[in-house]
Amino acid sequence: MKLDLLVLASHPDDAELGCGGAIAKHVSQGYKVGVIDFTRGELGTRGTPETRETESLDSAKILGLSIRENLGLRDGFFQNGESEQLKVVNAIRRYKPEVVLANAIRDRHPDHAKGADLAYDACFLAGLAKVKTTDENGLEQGPWRPRAFYHYIQSEFVEPDLILDVSGFWEIKMKSILAFKTQFHNPSSEEPETYISNPSFLRKLEARAIDFGHAIGVSYGEGFKVRRFPGVQNLFDLL
Ligand SMILES: [Zn+2]
Repeated sequence: MKLDLLVLASHPDDAELGCGGAIAKHVSQGYKVGVIDFTRGELGTRGTPETRETESLDSAKILGLSIRENLGLRDGFFQNGESEQLKVVNAIRRYKPEVVLANAIRDRHPDHAKGADLAYDACFLAGLAKVKTTDENGLEQGPWRPRAFYHYIQSEFVEPDLILDVSGFWEIKMKSILAFKTQFHNPSSEEPETYISNPSFLRKLEARAIDFGHAIGVSYGEGFKVRRFPGVQNLFDLL
């Protein structure tokens, strides 16, 4: 299956928090969108790898994802090394996305910047014909390089290079986030409170989106960081 947009994420729920609005919006416009999580989030204080897997599949249904997979890298300890890069290269060549969204360039959780670099390096390597990978049938995969690559913004404030209007998609984004029942505020949970389960976390997330939206004259926005200058075909596309 070929995807239009592929979101790469260090942990299940990074994609929802960072760019759930972008995902929902592009799905509604008919694009095929998928998410590949690098780890199972097994070091998370709340929940288990099993509950997070169920939750991530529930969220995938809410967002209308075409695929959601997990590479099973080690939460907290994965490196941007050859074996990890080849796993991501394999996924990029399998789904041939035009656009890739990856973790924040810097953030509170060190896996996020690591995931950002792993995604960027793998997108580059996937385009090199001499980097050999094989598909599930043992057949050699051809090179593929996405034409655009952006980093979503996570917990820490990062000044965006572009802002996507996600007005009209905030509700579905919140629904997809709350599908991770063990992770976010849930009055009936008896697990210890964490940075993200504190009710103020989701208020901060919404405040950020309102502020980014305000910057481009809409209700809600999601910010993205570029690695190279974004090009446009005409100046009337810009809000
Ligand atoms: Zn994360």
